[in-house]
Amino acid sequence: QETLLQVRNLKKYFPVKAGILQRTVGHVKAVDDISFHVNKGETLGIVGESGCGKSTMGRSLIRLYEPTEGNVLFDGTDITNLSERELRPIIRRKMQMIFQDPYASLNPRKSLGSTLNEPLLAHKLYSSKKERDEKIKDLLNVVGLHSSSMNYYPHEFSGGQRQRIGIARALVLNPELIIADEAVSALDVSIQSQIINLLEDLQSTFNLTYIFISHDLSVVRHIADRVGVMYLGKLVELANKNDLYAEPLHPYTQALLSAVPVIRNTGVQQKERIVLKGDIPSPANQPPGCVFHTRCPAKMKICETQIPEFKEVKPNHLIACHLYQ
Ligand code: SF4
Ligand code: MG
Repeated sequence: QETLLQVRNLKKYFPVKAGILQRTVGHVKAVDDISFHVNKGETLGIVGESGCGKSTMGRSLIRLYEPTEGNVLFDGTDITNLSERELRPIIRRKMQMIFQDPYASLNPRKSLGSTLNEPLLAHKLYSSKKERDEKIKDLLNVVGLHSSSMNYYPHEFSGGQRQRIGIARALVLNPELIIADEAVSALDVSIQSQIINLLEDLQSTFNLTYIFISHDLSVVRHIADRVGVMYLGKLVELANKNDLYAEPLHPYTQALLSAVPVIRNTGVQQKERIVLKGDIPSPANQPPGCVFHTRCPAKMKICETQIPEFKEVKPNHLIACHLYQ
C-alpha cells in the first residue's frame, strides 16, 4: 500500500494570554505530538469528543493553521516549511476540506457557477469560459445537482444540497486528499446517508483519499477503513476499523464505544456502558503523564507521571497506554 500522507510529531499549541499586558501564561495543546499515516485511496476516520483537537488537527494538516512543530509529508514532500507560493499547486489543489456548514463559507451574493469558477480561474486550469462552464456542469451532475443550479444562489439550496455544493467545491481542482470535518453532522439522518453514499461513490470514481473527522462513531464505522481516537490533543488509539470496534484496547476507546449500540444479526445489543468519572480537563491544563489518567478506570501509579508511548501492540493496532507496554 502506498502512503499518501505521513504525519510526524505534529503539534499545534495556542498561546493563552492574560492580564492587561496580555502576557502568554500558558498554552492550549490542541494537537500534541501526533503521528500517523494515511494510505492512498483509504478513509481514515478520526473520532473523539468535541474539543479533543480533531478539527484543529485537520486544519493543521493543510496549513489552514500553522503547525507549532512536526512535519506533514504529502506524497513524500514535506509541506510544513513551504512558502505560500510553493503550497499553491500542492495544498491548495490536491488537499481540500469539507466543513460542517458549507453555507458559512459560501458568498451569498455569488451564484454557484461563479463560486465554482473562481478556483478554476485562479489556478488557470482551463483557458476558456466555455471549458470552465462545461467542467462545472459535469461536476454538478457528479455530485447530484442539476447543471442549471449554476445560476442559483446559496440561500436557494437545502442543507443537503449545500453539502453537495461543498463537495463540488472541494472537487473542482481534482484533489487527491479530502478532509471532511463533521461533514454530515448537521444533516438529517436520511440526508446523511445520501451524502455518505455520494462520498463513497466519488472515492472510487476519482481514487480519493479521505480523512473523515466526526464525533459520531456510527457514521465513522460505516465509512472508515481505519480509525484513530483522539483525547485531549493526543492520538490514543489507531487500528483497522473492525479491530477497533470489535476489540478496543485503550480504556478511553472502550468507554466511548460502550455508549454505542451494536447491531448484530441477532438484533441490537447494548454493551455494558462504561461511565467515566469527571469532566474532560481543559486542554490549557493537560494532566501530566497519561492525559487520560484523571478519568481512567484502569489507572496505575506510573500513569500519573509517565507519558505512554504511542506504539504498535498488535499488527496495525497502535495504542498509547501503560497497560500494554
Ligand atoms: Fe489509563 Fe494508564 Fe492507560 Fe492512561 S496509561 S489509559 S491512565 S491505564
Ligand atoms: Mg470540531
